[in-house]
Amino acid sequence: MILFKTIDALQKHLYNKKNNGISIGFVPTMGALHQGHLSLISMSKTKCAITVCSIFVNPTQFNDSKDFEKYPITIENDIRLLELAQCDVLFLPSANEIYPKGTALTTQYQLGYLETLLEGKFRPHHFQGVCQVVHTLLDIVTPDMLFLGQKDYQQCMVIQQLLVITGIKTQLMMAPTLRENSGLAMSSRNMRLNDVDKEKATVIYQSLKYIKQNCNDKLPSDLIATVTEQLLQNGFEKIDYVAICNANDLQPLTNIKSNLPRVALIAAFLNGVRLIDNLLLDDAS
Ligand code: AMP
Repeated sequence: MILFKTIDALQKHLYNKKNNGISIGFVPTMGALHQGHLSLISMSKTKCAITVCSIFVNPTQFNDSKDFEKYPITIENDIRLLELAQCDVLFLPSANEIYPKGTALTTQYQLGYLETLLEGKFRPHHFQGVCQVVHTLLDIVTPDMLFLGQKDYQQCMVIQQLLVITGIKTQLMMAPTLRENSGLAMSSRNMRLNDVDKEKATVIYQSLKYIKQNCNDKLPSDLIATVTEQLLQNGFEKIDYVAICNANDLQPLTNIKSNLPRVALIAAFLNGVRLIDNLLLDDAS
């Protein structure tokens, strides 16, 4: 694996490859890598000739400065994992490299209602920051394919919208959520949970499965009330949302039966750590 810290050096490396028609897959991350991230690297390796991973903890997407300050940094281990996964290129820029003119947003991305609900509602400006950094990184890497995790379902929709708005031709590929054996979705933020809390946190996935098992018999509002209660009783101190939505546009659903594809989404705090997860309700798995 070759490590680049500057845009110039990375682009020089990729230039000849692109001119020779070599396909490039891109996996943007904020580091503290786990098997979920590595599954994106594997997917990219099966579809593209070269895989570029970036590690950059983007300050502009944190609505809570404490969350940014506490974000885990494990760069030596990340490099080791990426080497083992046979990632071809790691881009590890400084904040100054990505934001030479400062972090102020110069473009307001038109995300419409997508920005007003769920993560958009509870994390003001978060998706503008995500678009700002992903747009910048896509301009730098110009990949053929971009690999993102279903773990951040709404983020995938936002980035699909970004691709439409900007006319960038990169194809977005969404990879399934990797979970611990307990069902807990892998996340860099899990590092901030102790073993007892990791056990408690499995209630999120159990709740999503409960919704999936019952969504053809019970009203969304009843399922949401039951699951909210269940999370609070199991040690979660604050629930941002439990939602059952149209999987195509994230509009909330109110009826039991629906011909629309459905997704259930949860965001909740356990001992100060904000966890999110989601589950498609109509697929076979
Ligand atoms: P992050 O470093 O948290 O910004 O995540 C980088 C990418 O990895 C995003 O596209 C995430 O959706 C994806 N990702 C995070 N956790 C998982 C997981 N458990 N399974 C699959 N992909 C994941």
